[in-house]
Amino acid sequence: MRLTILLTALLLSACSQPPPITSHFLAFGTLIDLTLQGVDQKKADEVTAIIEEDFRLMHHSWHAWDPGPLGRVNRLIPSGQPFSVPPSVLPLIKIGTELAEQSGNRFNPAIGQLISLWGFHSSDPSGWTPPTDEAVQKLVQANPRMSDLTFNGVLMQSTNPTVDLDFGAFGKGYGIDLAMEHIKELGIKNAILNAGGDLRAIGSRGGQPWRIAIRNPAGERPLALLKVQGDESVFTSGDYERKYEHQGKHYHHIIDPRSGYPAEGTRSVTVLHNDATRADAAATALFVAGPDEWFQVAQAMDIRYVLLLDSDNTIHMSPAMAERVELLVENPTIKISAALK
Ligand code: ADP
Ligand code: MG
Repeated sequence: MRLTILLTALLLSACSQPPPITSHFLAFGTLIDLTLQGVDQKKADEVTAIIEEDFRLMHHSWHAWDPGPLGRVNRLIPSGQPFSVPPSVLPLIKIGTELAEQSGNRFNPAIGQLISLWGFHSSDPSGWTPPTDEAVQKLVQANPRMSDLTFNGVLMQSTNPTVDLDFGAFGKGYGIDLAMEHIKELGIKNAILNAGGDLRAIGSRGGQPWRIAIRNPAGERPLALLKVQGDESVFTSGDYERKYEHQGKHYHHIIDPRSGYPAEGTRSVTVLHNDATRADAAATALFVAGPDEWFQVAQAMDIRYVLLLDSDNTIHMSPAMAERVELLVENPTIKISAALK
């Protein structure tokens, strides 16, 4: 009898948790959802206004083609002369350099000129036509890399005039990391910050894990569900995000720096990691690495949880990911790798 009362009380207290509050705003060219659990509407509105302002500033600082601090850096690089890097841009250059090196330059934020050549420095790439092979090869041979940048305090110079910084592959992750630190400082314990399906979650949903759906590039229903709890980020890179069609062929926005062409062999990659910046960069790097090479690159980037859908719809996973994920596709072909350390 007493046990029944106790259980009922426990259940009621779980149910009486106020529902999470979700607010939306636009940044980084995508809809951002901020979900807060365990706060009232007033607090949620306050936190959302502060975080929206953070995103507005970050969007302005790191935009790859609008005028702003990153635009200024890109204009000064080809001179070959030293110049001072704005403090809003410097940390991304430093972190981007480290991540590019670990990925063997599959993730290479110095290839802005290639991205622009393929038409992805525009808010709407549809209607674009692919560049000539000659133009692509010229940039591939010029071989811009983050290691072409050298530093003397806050002064930076480039030994390669074709370096053009594009933070599209990890700026959103870095922005989410900064914003989530701010959300924690504002006293929030349970939250999800979701930018178009890429997210970082802290705490829980009233004691239960947050449930995250992973989009299926080949269908309407999600590919899989992932439960996250504590402090974890889930990032997906897909061939469906930004793309155009020309003469019956699809061209998407993830470029293989080695060939200069949109990466082939992969449809999407999902990475789970504590750090959103690393998860974002790794999802792009593993997309480029593809079904044959993702394992080595994941290992080098210190990633344990990977799900890669290849162009034959085979699902490649690390054992740690296979243990956690709930696949929602019928009769999937699955390939599980050796354990990632
Ligand atoms: P999304 O922005 O759709 O989440 P990604 O994180 O994979 O996807 O980032 C893709 C963006 O990154 C592209 O739009 C482009 O700006 C940039 N990019 C494309 N290929 C590369 C690459 N190999 N290395 C670094 N950045 C890249
Ligand atoms: Mg990315």
